[in-house]
Amino acid sequence: MSAPKPLILIVEDEEDMLLGLQHNLEFEGYRTIAATTGREGLERALTGVADLVVLDVMLPELNGFEVLREMREHKVRTPVILLTSKSLENDKLEGFSLGADDYVTKPFSIQELLARVRAVLARTRDRPDPGRVFRFGDIEVDFEQHVVRRDQEPLTLALKEFEILRLLVRYRGEIVTREQMLQEVWGYAPGNFPETRTVDNHIAKLRNKVGAQFIETIPKLGYRFRA
Ligand code: CA
Repeated sequence: MSAPKPLILIVEDEEDMLLGLQHNLEFEGYRTIAATTGREGLERALTGVADLVVLDVMLPELNGFEVLREMREHKVRTPVILLTSKSLENDKLEGFSLGADDYVTKPFSIQELLARVRAVLARTRDRPDPGRVFRFGDIEVDFEQHVVRRDQEPLTLALKEFEILRLLVRYRGEIVTREQMLQEVWGYAPGNFPETRTVDNHIAKLRNKVGAQFIETIPKLGYRFRA
């Protein structure tokens, strides 16, 4: 099984620039998600799902520096490439002092940005990445290390409970059906499902451990994660 392509979060409020970046990064084989305000960008960055953030400095609501500062204060170490403005040479210095991994100065060529994306990903890929940590309430889940903590204390989840949590978090805000869980967590083929009560039992245990309020029951359908 090959590793999934790196996921790049692009935070940029100028639509043409955003679409151009998305198009070019996806053409290079990266997956992308986008945010058009600093606040939205920060929310997405804090989930830790992105492998890299391309972050414009001039943004509405929160500027790029504020987003970066908040990320690092929340211990999210996802690498960040800042898009700075030529007229503000000090941007670079401020960006690095806040923990940016690199920057490009607008206007830049797409080739330059792609080269920096490749370089930053190569540099950061091998180190353990706490940016893969997902947080909700007082719970912290490290999906790579298979560790769950509450208030820094380890929380023991059975493997199936952990995989259910992973699935719910991946589709957070959306309904995950019991059948989907039986396929993806237990590996059953469609048409060959056992009693879905199995899923409910595991969900009950998971709720007891992480907090029932995060896992909503959708009658007759399944479950939905909300944080
Ligand atoms: Ca901008």
